[in-house]
Amino acid sequence: MHHRRRIYEGKAKIIFEGPEPGTYIQFFKDNATAFNAKKHEIIEGKGVLNNRISEYIFTQLKQLGIPTHFIRRLNMREQVIRSLEIIPLEIVVRNIAAGSFVKRFGLEEGALLPCSIIEFYYKKDELDDPMVSEEHVAAFGWASSQELEEIKALSIRINDFLSGLFLGVGIQLVDFKMEFGRLWEGEMMTVVVADEISPDSARLWDITSGRKLDKDRFRQDMGGLIEAYQEVARRLGIVNENEPLRPKGPTLVK
Ligand code: UDP
Repeated sequence: MHHRRRIYEGKAKIIFEGPEPGTYIQFFKDNATAFNAKKHEIIEGKGVLNNRISEYIFTQLKQLGIPTHFIRRLNMREQVIRSLEIIPLEIVVRNIAAGSFVKRFGLEEGALLPCSIIEFYYKKDELDDPMVSEEHVAAFGWASSQELEEIKALSIRINDFLSGLFLGVGIQLVDFKMEFGRLWEGEMMTVVVADEISPDSARLWDITSGRKLDKDRFRQDMGGLIEAYQEVARRLGIVNENEPLRPKGPTLVK
């Protein structure tokens, strides 16, 4: 299927070499994983939706002047991105208590937090991505203090923007995860948003019914994941009701 060199394969995406120097191709798979891949399933059409939703969000961020790795969408499952030096952190911003936060602090799911909270996790599957403090980040040299300040400032801006964007279509942005990278242009380095922002990496609740429109449907065996992601895409005006999730034509047999 692909004649390009595979650079890296993760749980939900593959990175291939890109069409131009300094670029990669990010391919969105249909694999759904949770609990550090202990739970795993193929959900047909998920990759297509995440590709489109993430494209939409990164394009909006760009219009705000927030630098991202996104260049352009290539097709149903792929986008051209800038090759970066990934900062090995997962940055989580929370507005409402859910998931691991509920367990850790004994809160009720859905409790509104007094202010948005930023958390850092060290990206290391073997260690189950442990939560770390700014002290750990500095001490282990994962990011400089200047980079960390930039990451925090960008995270707050992105959270404010996305909260408003989703609120406008009747969705609460409960929490979400981001990754950042270093973009080198000669001697100049910019911290840019990388990876994806999609219902795989965010918790999105319908504001009136509280219906979950994100990967928790998979984590909690609720079913209806594709319908939920499609609902998010439809509300954002990305896809219309009848758009097929798969390209027409012959199917490749492996
Ligand atoms: N998240 C993610 N990848 C991870 C861990 C978390 O995208 O490896 C997202 C998750 O979808 C949620 C937010 O980060 O929107 C906070 O997740 P939490 O710490 O509550 O962990 P979880 O309950 O997902 O284990």
